[in-house]
Amino acid sequence: MKKPTQRKTETNSRPVRFYRVIDRNLKSFGQIDYTKQTMKLNPAKGDMVNTIIHEDLHAKYPKKSEEWVRKRAKKEEGKLSITQAQHLLTLIGLRPRSQ
Ligand SMILES: [Zn+2]
Repeated sequence: MKKPTQRKTETNSRPVRFYRVIDRNLKSFGQIDYTKQTMKLNPAKGDMVNTIIHEDLHAKYPKKSEEWVRKRAKKEEGKLSITQAQHLLTLIGLRPRSQ
């Protein structure tokens, strides 16, 4: 049986530390578990930059609505430089596509 690719990395979120875990079998782009302080990310779904920002926002603002997080993530993604976006991908062990 094929093992799912999992990699744990710390996020920069404060004050609570979350771990980012890659799970290619996840049914969604990403998922957050507040009790385990873990966010799962599924690069097989695509658009990981937005997903990382999105799940980071859930981690930082657990009480905000899905709608708020979605809008804010889009806004923050728009402000990122290419270098910053690539950095996010390398943080979770994904190599950005070569240009
Ligand atoms: Zn969400």
